[in-house]
Amino acid sequence: MTDRPKQVVVLGSTGSIGVSTLDVIARHPDRYQVFALTAQRNGERLLEQCLRFQPQYAVLVDEEAALALRRSLAEQNCRTEVLMGRAALVEVAAHGDVDAVMAAIVGAAGLEPTLAAVRAGKRVLLANKEALVMSGELFMSAVRTSGADLLPIDSEHNAIFQCLPRVTLGQKEPGDTPNGLLGKLGVRRILLTASGGPFRATPLEELDSVTPEQACRHPNWSMGQKISVDSATMMNKGLELIEACWLFDATPDQVDIHIHPESVIHSMVEYCDGSVLAQMGNPDMRTPIASGLAWPERIESGVGLLDLFKIGALHFERPDTRRFPCLRLAAEAFSAGGTAAAVLNAANEEAVAAFLDRRIRFTRIPAIIEQALVHIPVSAADSVDAVLQADQRAREYARQIIQAGP
Ligand code: NAD
Ligand code: MG
Repeated sequence: MTDRPKQVVVLGSTGSIGVSTLDVIARHPDRYQVFALTAQRNGERLLEQCLRFQPQYAVLVDEEAALALRRSLAEQNCRTEVLMGRAALVEVAAHGDVDAVMAAIVGAAGLEPTLAAVRAGKRVLLANKEALVMSGELFMSAVRTSGADLLPIDSEHNAIFQCLPRVTLGQKEPGDTPNGLLGKLGVRRILLTASGGPFRATPLEELDSVTPEQACRHPNWSMGQKISVDSATMMNKGLELIEACWLFDATPDQVDIHIHPESVIHSMVEYCDGSVLAQMGNPDMRTPIASGLAWPERIESGVGLLDLFKIGALHFERPDTRRFPCLRLAAEAFSAGGTAAAVLNAANEEAVAAFLDRRIRFTRIPAIIEQALVHIPVSAADSVDAVLQADQRAREYARQIIQAGP
């Protein structure tokens, strides 16, 4: 390689996606250099990462943790500069020396830094689906305006992207119909696969008493706690339905959810001539991460051979919306438009946190989200402030009803 290494920011570097991203980057020191690493408060892991990758900047949102990290790095003569607070996340994400930003903060907290990277026209590797779900139109129009290079990292969306002809996401052309992209490409539908999570076959009456430990024990993927609970309620697939509609300019009826318990096919695209293209692989996020980092080139990710002989058979089921009401709620919120998806997302974040804290039962999660959607009127999501206000209102409302009991 003759080019200088690309400068990469990893937002949320101490999390599951962050760690996998650094694993891929470490395999290609000639291609990528870490410019900044960020986390909320896990200073210990961030310290190890700074010593290993020697970034220009490390950001901790938590001030006390940032001060401790600054002292430890000075003791080890590490040149990394420590910044603190949420504004510093935005600062590093939009920094003029940066080429690519991995958006891997969990939840709404990732919106502002991710949007800053988009507005600065970076290559944006989007794992943080909540940022796009809550701000959909605003986010995609920022991509269009800045010309940011948006690459989906969520395994399903990365699979769909790989099964499409080469497209630049978000770049609508004048004269395109509102659902122009798929039509233009000859796509009939997207087949979005889902594992079904740990409770796919649990008797319905037992769902009331499942524990956070059971919910976080995903059959195929090892992930952060919040997305693990989202997979158990299938809100993850609901968020992904919304994510697919924004990324690929699709309507919900063009996206067909297929439960596929083996998680080998990461999603499929069906064309008007009847061809169905699938992207397959071991369930390991290093594949979509490497694909996004190097796109349209290919690089080693560390993921092993796919052993189809061992897997033997692939299965498919229709999702059961009685078992998984979150799927219906997400589709309804997307159709309602405006701030509804921000309300859905915020109420879900509050309910999931309360469930993980053992303050509510698992089956209250969809109930709380539904109440928030009914209670909070939809308004236009035409600015970041409007989105954040809806997010705040939904959180306050969800906290009130959570306090009322388990
Ligand atoms: P995680 O909980 O393991 O890590 C989250 C990261 O975000 C950590 O580095 C944490 O310090 C940081 N963070 C958390 N709250 C923050 C805040 N308020 N401000 C700043 N930083 C904060 O989560 P994860 O599983 O790595 O998921 C990250 C994102 O990627 C999520 O949006 C998730 O939906 C998406 N995703 C994850 C996977 C997966 O396999 N883990 C797959 C697809 C998509
Ligand atoms: Mg996914």
